[in-house]
Amino acid sequence: MTASIFSRIVARELPADIVLENDRFIAFRDIAPKAPVHILVVPKTEEYANVTELATGDADLLAELVTTAQAVADEHMDGQYRLVFNTGERAGQTVFHVHAHVLGGGLEEGSLA
Ligand code: ADP
Repeated sequence: MTASIFSRIVARELPADIVLENDRFIAFRDIAPKAPVHILVVPKTEEYANVTELATGDADLLAELVTTAQAVADEHMDGQYRLVFNTGERAGQTVFHVHAHVLGGGLEEGSLA
């Protein structure tokens, strides 16, 4: 199986503006931001294609993903943020390695990623 683009970022095969990394997660700025601050939080494992697979496969890792998103928002936004998981091609998912979009820094009312 070919490594996902996010696994290639973890492996430093692709560049990224990394804001947080530990043994389970990497977080980096989205290359095409849809908010004043737009950061992706990605479990390093690419075992889960989407948030539902993660919820059923490793609920603890999903919970930790949410608290990691909060930590990123506390540091790079004002602690307030929108958390988006696109699930499925027709919902706009393009990378099938689960990732949370953390959007903040002054969102327009009514805007969705
Ligand atoms: P969508 O592309 O519709 O947002 P996803 O929910 O699968 O679908 O999100 C993938 C995200 O990854 C996109 O927001 C895209 O801008 C971002 N992205 C793709 N390649 C890179 C990269 N090399 N560095 C940072 N972000 C990236």
